[in-house]
Amino acid sequence: MVVCIQIKYRAIIKKLIKMETKFINVLVCPLCKKKLEYNRSENELICLFDKLAFPIKDDVPFMIESEARLLD
Ligand SMILES: [Zn+2]
Repeated sequence: MVVCIQIKYRAIIKKLIKMETKFINVLVCPLCKKKLEYNRSENELICLFDKLAFPIKDDVPFMIESEARLLD
């Protein structure tokens, strides 16, 4: 099940990177359910509300609070 979700996310991310879209509208924060912003330079998904950055490793976003980086 988790693998299925990751494959789905991977496909979405690849599509969005191809489109050169600044904002990811499909993915939402697992905590507050708000939209995430894609930070291309750091390759991570940002929740401005929670000030968390979720890493993307091998095109797979890690949408887990324990994996997230706290923003300043
Ligand atoms: Zn959030």
